[in-house]
Amino acid sequence: DLSNAIVAQDEMGRPFIIVKDQGNKKRQNGIEAKKSHILAARSVASIIKTSLGPRGLDKILISPDGDITITNDGATILSQMELDNEIAKLLVQLSKSQDEEIGDGTTGVVVLASALLDQALELIEKGIHPIKIANGFDEAAKLAIQTLEEKGTDDIMLNENDQLFNDYLFKAAKTSLGSKIVSKNHDMFAQMAVDAVTSVMNKERKDVDFDLIRLQGRVGGSLKDSKLINGVILDKDFSHPQMPTVVLPKEGEDGVKLAILTCPFEPPKPKTKHKLDISSVEEYQKLQTYEQDKFKEMINFVKEAGADVVICQWGFDDEANHLLLQNELPAVRWVGGQELEQIAISTNGRIVPRFQDLTKEKLGTCAKVYELEFGTTKDRMLVIEQLKDSKTVTCFLRGSNKMIVDEAQRALHDSLCVVRNLVKDSRVVYGGGAAEVTMSLAVSEEADRQRGIDQYAFRAFAEALDTIPMTLAENSGLDPIETLSNLKSKHVKENISCVGVDCLGKGTNDMKELFIVDPFIGKKQQVLLATQLCRMILKIDNVIISGKDEY
Ligand code: ADP
Repeated sequence: DLSNAIVAQDEMGRPFIIVKDQGNKKRQNGIEAKKSHILAARSVASIIKTSLGPRGLDKILISPDGDITITNDGATILSQMELDNEIAKLLVQLSKSQDEEIGDGTTGVVVLASALLDQALELIEKGIHPIKIANGFDEAAKLAIQTLEEKGTDDIMLNENDQLFNDYLFKAAKTSLGSKIVSKNHDMFAQMAVDAVTSVMNKERKDVDFDLIRLQGRVGGSLKDSKLINGVILDKDFSHPQMPTVVLPKEGEDGVKLAILTCPFEPPKPKTKHKLDISSVEEYQKLQTYEQDKFKEMINFVKEAGADVVICQWGFDDEANHLLLQNELPAVRWVGGQELEQIAISTNGRIVPRFQDLTKEKLGTCAKVYELEFGTTKDRMLVIEQLKDSKTVTCFLRGSNKMIVDEAQRALHDSLCVVRNLVKDSRVVYGGGAAEVTMSLAVSEEADRQRGIDQYAFRAFAEALDTIPMTLAENSGLDPIETLSNLKSKHVKENISCVGVDCLGKGTNDMKELFIVDPFIGKKQQVLLATQLCRMILKIDNVIISGKDEY
């Protein structure tokens, strides 16, 4: 094929042929294209497969500039891998969408999707049309979810008892932390997740606004020094070392009053177009007195409004700082805009842009403001502890190095999501692959009943579902096939759906007893997303990469 060749001549007039972009030529289509996509997806999945479950292993990811991340979270692993295969990137997207919608189950969804693709490949090789396979998978997914909803779920909210509900939330949070770096302290972290969510949730609307929960990490100490702070924590201290380290409410007041300011403590400056001429000592002194008067005026505004503490977005100079100290107004400077907003929400105060606007009603109210010190280290942080009924909490995480703090943050995020999902929809399914076995059995039963081509897709779908319990078993050092067949026979013989893989060797397969649960909506989403992705890949028969020549 010489259509992309050019004939040229060298300096001696001899003709030669230049073949354009020979190396760049990239085109695949038909069955070959599909096969290569599926193989690419398989190689991605094989990397994160070993991270699934409580005995899953962690990965170290090193970025091009040398940053190290240690993690077990599927979405994080995938997002940091530099992939150049377009189909592999779709898997990354897949775990990202699971992460955004549900927050947990990001490893499982990729393992399931790649198992579906593997199965699809076999069917393609048998000569079944990809669209037929995709349609069959869709039907199977519908059936699987329906069965799970009818047979495999338990509603933990049926017990209207708050204490019991919180117990369940706690246990579910613990399941999600089982495989994470924090698993040594998982009781503490699970409790933290439950406390954080329950203190900001809206019980009537069954909603949790994640903006009200802040995750803040700081290197130092160890994981068990982490704690939930009722209010806002600032990486700051009071502007003057002689200011008190604890501020408590004044007598007769319902709390400590905060002035939350976005105006600087400085005298108004002439605008750039104007010029200030000072030609004598008197004039200079007059200017200085003017400045001092201005400072006094500002402090008066604050005092008169009744503030106990000043939170300021800007800095202020020594003069102002000194006056604040003299007037017994502990102050914090250079507080970021986002933090300012959070303080305002948590103390029910208003952010005030001008000193003249300060009034008593606009002040925030909190239980106390205090400096948090960490053992022998010098660093301190400032805690604005809120009153009982207000909302915003900070999960303050400590760890001996940045990697641990980051991973703890991701782990906590996952369990916060699990708790939130259960507040939204309190149905749970049983973990350790129990839910997958329930679905798989129903789908393969249906396959036996079908006569047409769909039976192949159904059977394949059931086998893909089996990959989850098998992977869990494999990662825990158990024999995958033996474990799976034991599980299946228990499910069928005893007609129960809460038997799963005993990953931690607790001596029982009953996930109800061990209370290994996952939110139903998370599992449902996993099946839906994985099936959807599989359909999408099966429909692709041509890859065209823009920017590169295509012939
Ligand atoms: P993901 O990122 O998909 O959430 P995980 O590594 O957190 O992946 O693994 C979650 C899977 O492990 C779920 O299927 C869950 O049911 C299962 N699992 C978690 N803890 C246990 C346990 N103690 N015993 C058995 N299975 C567990």
